[in-house]
Amino acid sequence: MTTSAPSAAAQPFAGLTDPKEWARAIVPALVFGLAAFGGIELTRFGGRIAAIWPANGILLAVLMLGRPRAISPVIGLAFAANVISNLCTGDHLPASVFLASCNTLEIVASLLLLRVAGQGEWMIENPQHMLRFGLVCLAAPIGSSALAAVGLNYMTGAWAPDVFANWFAADALGYAVVTPIALVLLRQFRQRRGDAGPLKTALVIALVLAASILVFSQNRYPLLFAVFPILIVAGFTASFTGAAAGLLVLAGVSVGFTMGGHGPFHLIPGASPQERIIVLQVFLFAAVITVFPVAGILAQRTRMEAKLVDLAGTDALTGLANRVRFSLAFSSLWSHTQRERAPLSVLMLDIDFFKQFNDRYGHLAGDHCLEKVATVLADAARRPLDLAARYGGEEFVILLPHTPLEGAMRVADAIHRGIESLGIEHSGSSHGHVTVSIGVCAVQPTAELNAERVLQTADAGLYEAKRNGRARTEVATYDLLEATGTDNVVEFSRR
Ligand code: GH3
Ligand code: MG
Ligand code: MG
Repeated sequence: MTTSAPSAAAQPFAGLTDPKEWARAIVPALVFGLAAFGGIELTRFGGRIAAIWPANGILLAVLMLGRPRAISPVIGLAFAANVISNLCTGDHLPASVFLASCNTLEIVASLLLLRVAGQGEWMIENPQHMLRFGLVCLAAPIGSSALAAVGLNYMTGAWAPDVFANWFAADALGYAVVTPIALVLLRQFRQRRGDAGPLKTALVIALVLAASILVFSQNRYPLLFAVFPILIVAGFTASFTGAAAGLLVLAGVSVGFTMGGHGPFHLIPGASPQERIIVLQVFLFAAVITVFPVAGILAQRTRMEAKLVDLAGTDALTGLANRVRFSLAFSSLWSHTQRERAPLSVLMLDIDFFKQFNDRYGHLAGDHCLEKVATVLADAARRPLDLAARYGGEEFVILLPHTPLEGAMRVADAIHRGIESLGIEHSGSSHGHVTVSIGVCAVQPTAELNAERVLQTADAGLYEAKRNGRARTEVATYDLLEATGTDNVVEFSRR
């Protein structure tokens, strides 16, 4: 048996420390063993070698997404499963061990050539990886089939070129078809979520199933082309999950019907079962390389859009929400709290004597101070719907939905304490360190209230805090502001 690293070869199971990790190694090995058994039993057509070899494709996908330390145990167990499946299909022990070794070497070579083992890297969305994967699909099976051809010729007298062609076609096409599908499905399974809703995915699968049955259940019309637009629709509507599930369904239906004597590949005059299976695999490969790039580009675009939306709403210096995202969040939280009849508090916050701070310590130190203050604010606005945003230069705003005045005051106090514990020296402040002033406005949003005015009220509280000596919190009440102006804001708490 050959393993990927000498140290791992000495102790192949050293990486498995708990039962979960054992399960993670045993399950792929079992699947590998079953796929190997099924491949040989169902598709060897009188010879020794399967015409379809999905086993290595599945194992490669598992290893590409798995942890590095699980690689040698998984390969070791898969080797054992392969020997057992060979024995079960009637091979003698030496031949079983030899053929399993050829498969293992192919897997190890593929991993070394791909160089993505265990990094969870994502091949299909990356064109460079895709190209490298295509080359690996050819190179690794060339090596293993050459070895298998020489070995089987020596052991059984089998005609080496036949063994080579049979093994190569089965393994190369097995990789090309199965690995991408397995990668996508495994990734979705690991993340425990699809990239489309379950209903959409189910509809797409039903559509591909119906089309595949229509195409492959009859021998009259060669309707192969009809599945492509449907697969593309699957990729468009249900993204990678739809594409991968659709391809899996298509592979299952097409292999099943073709092996059972139905479908367009039986229209090839005089073709052997083996030739039909090879053409079928080429067809499936064409489907894979048509559908995944489309789904990949779409997924990439969706991710980029999400990233751009995120960037557009984020303040570059502090990483807090910027004014754009704040405005959007405020209007949606305003409606939300109105519907829920829940209180909403707004905190307006401004760093004290910040102009002097910049003058004394420099603009860079000023920026650094803003970053530090932002971490305190992000920490204070911790509940899921809370939002801390940079409102302007050194002014910040915090939205606290479902929070009455008392809660808002507790958050304001925590902010004062947090900023104090930062201990950023400021010789221009009577406290000797950086402080902030906070204005608070707490309301129960209703249709009669004006959201914009709530902000103005909190700002009036901030103004009042500045006027009363800074490093403190002042509460302004909405009604008073509306009735008689900012001078009547009510002082609630001071620090
Ligand atoms: P007050 O206590 O009344 O708030 O005094 P202040 O000096 O902080 O008041 P003011 O709002 O007039 O000054 C704000 C200063 O904040 C002006 C500007 O130099 C500084 N500032 C605004 N944005 C940035 C920034 O992104 N980086 C840095 N370093 N300074 C900024
Ligand atoms: Mg200021
Ligand atoms: Mg200011």
